[in-house]
Amino acid sequence: MQIVYRHLRFAICDSPFAICKMPEAKKKGKVVIVSGPSGVGKSTICREVAKRLNIYLSVSVTTRPRGPGETHGRDYWFISEREFAERIKAGQLLEYAEVFGHLYGTPKDKVEQQLSAGKTVILEIDVQGAKQVKAIYPDAITIFILPTTQKELARRILAKRLTDRGRDQAVFAEKRLEEAGAEIAAAWQYYENMVINEDLQQAVNEVVQIIQGALFTEGSRNEDP
Ligand code: ADP
Ligand code: 5GP
Repeated sequence: MQIVYRHLRFAICDSPFAICKMPEAKKKGKVVIVSGPSGVGKSTICREVAKRLNIYLSVSVTTRPRGPGETHGRDYWFISEREFAERIKAGQLLEYAEVFGHLYGTPKDKVEQQLSAGKTVILEIDVQGAKQVKAIYPDAITIFILPTTQKELARRILAKRLTDRGRDQAVFAEKRLEEAGAEIAAAWQYYENMVINEDLQQAVNEVVQIIQGALFTEGSRNEDP
């Protein structure tokens, strides 16, 4: 006899009064892709969401130089172009792309380990990377973060430049702003969910709800009738 609750499965054990949890095949975790123009608030939102839901936030490898406020292994794994090429050759990257003149990629082993353990994984990657991941994991949840206005995006890119990443030159910030229009246009085609990051806590709540909603729907679909 089996009683099915929303997420937990129980069975009546030998003892007529005891209820114990049934062993079940471990379900694979789900991939969540978060993209958006540079400076829109992706890192801030993803860190908060990963903490709130206790899910794994992937740390990418990149060939771009480390900024003053950044930590190797926390913000990125900063590696040389040669090392990046070796990782591509060895098939160690789930996806990779050139963004703003530097290479960025997602380490495959860590993501696969987490998914096999049934954990949800957040990938904060660009649109090119998102397309590659969708081809591998078609049921990945896609979320695009939008700015309120171009002016506000410019302000945030600049704020980041001045306080967080002194490496950026004004020209570099301008390049990022130019790219934003094209990215947003492409997003309508590829992303199922759009979140406007005006109020940070509201944006975090919306991303949390999208992920929880998708996981709940998935869980219900897998349950026995
Ligand atoms: P991204 O990862 O998309 O490049 P960040 O998360 O680094 O962006 O955020 C860029 C800047 O914008 C940071 O200074 C961050 O504190 C700020 N920021 C993020 N979200 C908001 C928000 N809702 N309102 C105001 N500032 C924000
Ligand atoms: P930044 O240099 O501002 O940290 O990141 C620049 C861009 O690279 C952002 O759009 C970010 O989403 C993207 N990016 C970061 N990591 C990866 C990755 O592993 N793969 C891909 N394809 N893009 C990434």
